[in-house]
Amino acid sequence: MTNKISDKREHSFFGDVVSYFERAARYTKHPAGLLDQIKCCNSVYRMKFPVRLKEGIKVITAYRAEHSQHKMPVKGGIRYSTAVNQDEVMALAALMTYKCAVVDVPFGGAKGGVCIDPRKYSEVELEQITRRYTSELIRKNFIGPGIDVPAPDYGTGAREMAWIADTYAAFNPGQIDAIGCVTGKPISQGGIRGRTAATGRGVFYGVREAVNIKDDMKKLGLEPGIQNKKVIVQGLGNVGYYTAKFFQQGGADVIAIAEYEGAIYDKNGLDVDEVFKHRKKSGSILNFKNAKNITPSEKALEMACDILIPAALENQINSGNAKRIKAKIIGEAANGPVTPEAERVLLKKGVFIIPDLYLNAGGVTVSYFEWLKNLSHVRFGRMGKRYDELVNRTLVDSIERASGKSLSSKNKEIILHGAGEEDLVNSGLEETMINAYNEIRETWKSNKKIPDLRTATFVVAINKIANSYIALGIFP
Ligand code: GLU
Repeated sequence: MTNKISDKREHSFFGDVVSYFERAARYTKHPAGLLDQIKCCNSVYRMKFPVRLKEGIKVITAYRAEHSQHKMPVKGGIRYSTAVNQDEVMALAALMTYKCAVVDVPFGGAKGGVCIDPRKYSEVELEQITRRYTSELIRKNFIGPGIDVPAPDYGTGAREMAWIADTYAAFNPGQIDAIGCVTGKPISQGGIRGRTAATGRGVFYGVREAVNIKDDMKKLGLEPGIQNKKVIVQGLGNVGYYTAKFFQQGGADVIAIAEYEGAIYDKNGLDVDEVFKHRKKSGSILNFKNAKNITPSEKALEMACDILIPAALENQINSGNAKRIKAKIIGEAANGPVTPEAERVLLKKGVFIIPDLYLNAGGVTVSYFEWLKNLSHVRFGRMGKRYDELVNRTLVDSIERASGKSLSSKNKEIILHGAGEEDLVNSGLEETMINAYNEIRETWKSNKKIPDLRTATFVVAINKIANSYIALGIFP
């Protein structure tokens, strides 16, 4: 999704992340020098490389930023977009560091970007660009299962990750863990079930956790629970699509979905899968049955709703539109969708913001599971599933025999089912999102001076990273 609201940032994106960091650092007791080390971006590799394409030789600009190596490997996606620049990758790498800390994923933060519009290239050309980018990363030691592990981000997906894994393996013959050099791969290439939906699923779990707390909802004039909440989602890419789908499944009404060509609105709730199919077939989200077209697209962000989910790019809610936002809750599924200026306006209006560094951490959480799977060279559930089913069946048989009653077929199915890979991934993700939410909320509630949930989330991240540095010591 292109940024239709304002292409001009209010100031640097990295500067925004630093300002959030500095606001939170006031509520910690770490030495100033240590805080300086945490907030700076340690390494940035900007590269230019030639690729022979249909149109002739083209020089491509690309980046990889490694924000913090306090835990190794560092981790973060690769974005393909013409808006990619050094400031953006540094900001996104920093968010990765904080995100991993918040959800206890033992990685430092990184992010990469290739400055291209992927829609303008054929599959063959994209493969060439991706492989060449990977070889540049290998050349400078910016990739490897114990060094730096990329993943999908805006404009990339499993296909690109497979090319990266294959290129890395070709340059490192015999390296038994080579496949762990990247996550978000197709299942056939060492990917993990549940990764594609993970960020959206995590967003759903995170918002569900927040809206289940009665006291917090009372202040917003809302009933607790996801059921019947009016939700607007910006972006029908991977994150937006799955987020909208899980909200619909959870009983919410997804009343509007926005994409760059426009938005659609239906007060009774949209069928997310039908909308997805319609856009794929017609090439546009507009003119969906029974729905009202909203143009320009950004108007949808300003419509009345309970929960607004920006799931596209950064800088979508800024000082230009913040005062017109009517949502009671904003769930940041994208990275950096709300600028600090906008946040000031929104917090004053009493909007409850669930911040990106917590809410969209489901993707990297499941990337961590994929990396563990790659290092252990075995699918989760492969060893225990059948054994658990045997034990469960014996238990059910014994209960039925002893009681003389048989269990309902639905209950039986649940009890008998041994956990497969996807069950375990989803369970690990749910546990992670619930624990992290309770930790950040407790931090917020236990210090009356901490003004909002984002600040509390940064406090949690800073404390964990600082403690890690303190335990590590400073290398002479
Ligand atoms: N690109 C995703 C993010 O921004 C995923 C990163 C990863 O899995 O390493 O969180």
